[in-house]
Amino acid sequence: MHCPFCAHPETKVIDSRLVADGEQIRRRRECTSCGERYTTFETAELVMPKVIKQDGTREPFNEEKLRLGIQRALEKRPVSVESIEAALTHIKQKLRATGEREVPSRMVGEWVMEELRSLDEVAFVRFASVYRSFKDLDEFRAEIERMSVQASVPDEESSQ
Ligand SMILES: [Zn+2]
Repeated sequence: MHCPFCAHPETKVIDSRLVADGEQIRRRRECTSCGERYTTFETAELVMPKVIKQDGTREPFNEEKLRLGIQRALEKRPVSVESIEAALTHIKQKLRATGEREVPSRMVGEWVMEELRSLDEVAFVRFASVYRSFKDLDEFRAEIERMSVQASVPDEESSQ
């Protein structure tokens, strides 16, 4: 690609490494003309299944939308950007692994909840309460109970 600073057609790669669980290559480039450095990310473009929404309409899988939803649930929670990206990677891997051309949005939502549950319980409850829009309090309580049964190791640090 052309240098984004001076549009010179040649740049050299000065560093390259795998990121996002090996799903991305991060390349550090240097322009051979102006010497400016910049970073590019390379990912394989694979066809993702479409998402079937609750109302039956289909929409393309939207990674940015998913990231925003996860970030919103994790707002002000002690979870690193790397962990969020790893969760996104897991979800995308599951999506591709279905081998389906369309998957219900509910399935994606369940995967998000699985990821959040292992990252941060508060975020999980936030997301679950919005996403599932529990019909009543009993349903919500049942989910919390289910969650606490599944929480295998008590985390002392979180009660500081
Ligand atoms: Zn340049």
